[in-house]
Amino acid sequence: MGVVLYRAFGVSLSRLRNGVLYGLGVGMVVLVAFAIPVSMAVIAPAAAGLVSEDPSMAAPRPEPAVAITDSAISHAIWGVTAGTVATALTRRLGANYRCHRCDIEFSKRPTYAEHVSRMHGSGAPLLRRILVLGGGYAGIGVLRRLQREFEDSVDTSITIVSEDNFFLSTPLLAEMATGHVEPRHISTPIRTFCRRARYYHASVESIDLDGRSVMIRRTVDGKAVEMRYDHLVLALGGQTNYYGNSSVEEHALTIRTLEDALALRNRIITMLEGADQEDGAAEQESMATFVVVGGGFSGVETAGAIHDFVTESAERYYRNIEPSAVRVVLVSAGPILPEIGELGPYAERAMGRRGVEIIKGAKLVEASPHAATLDNGKIIPCMTIVWAGGVRASPVVAALDAEHGAGGRVSVNECLQVAGRPEVHALGDCAHLVNARTGRPYPPTAQNAIRQAAVAAHNVASAVRGRGSQRRFDYASAGSMAMIGRRDGVAVLFGLRLRGVLAWLLWRNYYLSRLPSAEKRLRVAIDWLVDLYVPSDVTRLGNILDRRRRP
Ligand SMILES: Cc1cc2nc3c(=O)[nH]c(=O)nc-3n(C[C@H](O)[C@H](O)[C@H](O)COP(=O)(O)OP(=O)(O)OC[C@H]3O[C@@H](n4cnc5c(N)ncnc54)[C@H](O)[C@@H]3O)c2cc1C
Repeated sequence: MGVVLYRAFGVSLSRLRNGVLYGLGVGMVVLVAFAIPVSMAVIAPAAAGLVSEDPSMAAPRPEPAVAITDSAISHAIWGVTAGTVATALTRRLGANYRCHRCDIEFSKRPTYAEHVSRMHGSGAPLLRRILVLGGGYAGIGVLRRLQREFEDSVDTSITIVSEDNFFLSTPLLAEMATGHVEPRHISTPIRTFCRRARYYHASVESIDLDGRSVMIRRTVDGKAVEMRYDHLVLALGGQTNYYGNSSVEEHALTIRTLEDALALRNRIITMLEGADQEDGAAEQESMATFVVVGGGFSGVETAGAIHDFVTESAERYYRNIEPSAVRVVLVSAGPILPEIGELGPYAERAMGRRGVEIIKGAKLVEASPHAATLDNGKIIPCMTIVWAGGVRASPVVAALDAEHGAGGRVSVNECLQVAGRPEVHALGDCAHLVNARTGRPYPPTAQNAIRQAAVAAHNVASAVRGRGSQRRFDYASAGSMAMIGRRDGVAVLFGLRLRGVLAWLLWRNYYLSRLPSAEKRLRVAIDWLVDLYVPSDVTRLGNILDRRRRP
């Protein structure tokens, strides 16, 4: 029906509003054309006949107006439900016009027809090309808004390039590494976001700001392709910053990507398996010791998640491991969770009570397969070190011919434009912007990337349309929160300080709501529900995932 309506009248049922109106309309037509006539012409006389034959079957009959109102309400409910289902089916099956040559779709027939005639007819097409680099919180946020903005525009092309063909909900990585959620449930294919945009699965090799072109390398065959743009959105995120320490780079695991999280999970399980077979106390302790470096969100959340997973698994499955041999050590050069202010010390105490050892004011200076050496001279025998100590911009961004801030992030003004390049906007972890309220750079967080995406999309659209009005990014965080262990968290929201189960629930709800589709939200919610009742799973996935050197 969606396709017929679309083709005949150009009405797209993929919009919920249209679906509901369509359902209501159909419900009312059925009421007027079928339900009322049938009730009056067939059912009422038949009922009267039955009553005249057997008076005991007489029942009080409602007033006609009341009966019609009742019937109208039930038809309206039925219609809205059917309309919503029609919208869902239309979205899934597609009633929109797709140009297979460009791999994009339009929601209106005339727009599609105009696109075909202008792009694939005779004469050179006139296009304004928007190129989005990166498919994380920043890139996808901008993409979704730009698609809505240019849904009916035939002279604007939108392209997105990302080396991962999925959007990753990074705050849930620690939960994934310790088996609370499944990898596919926190990753969403970029193609599911692309209606008006074209996606390239490729890595960005270099960017020529003067020539307005980007060199990409296709993932499938390594072929280099040049892409030209009129407007560029830089959202390439960050990479782990080892601050030049090659021993850490070589021997520590990290937690930034899906692969990292899978490799970490494998390593933890391998160590537990090994420790269970080891009878020497020192060797067992070394295998069962996990050192996490970094007192920010990712370090704290990872240490908390590893601790719960390891202690629970050791108790249940690895009975040869001495409970005292299991250690999780969190090393931080500064205070714990400085982003969360006064609740940092609470997080520290709570983690300490759970059994996480915390070493503050110390830096990791050397990592080896068998130990972590700190700058205070302490040597921790361990076979697993997780480095969550810093972020820097991707090398492509660091190499840009532009001004840079700390960690090679490209400097932008408050409208998120690169200095002297009004056609280039940068945001998220790869952009350096000083917060005028605090005088410090905005931290590399998902919250900032999400907010910046709204501003960047508006500004790019405005530039494309030649309007010139640019919105400023000025964001005062409503708060922040962190999960520090099973059913324990800390949060500061609008000045309100929360901790324990409430903060943990808030954390889970917030990140559940930030998942990009209802399907992923449902899957993660089910994972969490099941996780409440079943013990941890210590399945170790194939060796192929263990990218890092074996200890
Ligand atoms: C473990 C962990 C926990 C975190 N927890 C929190 C939290 O609790 N709260 C919070 O606010 N923030 C948290 N963060 C930070 C948050 O995830 C980032 O700030 C956010 O992801 C930044 O979004 P982005 O789009 O700028 O970059 P990213 O999400 O990193 O996306 C970058 C995109 O660019 C692509 N890309 C990179 N290089 C190339 C290339 N050369 N070619 C093509 N594509 C490329 C990548 O594939 C990716 O799609 C956490 C981060 C981690 C790692």
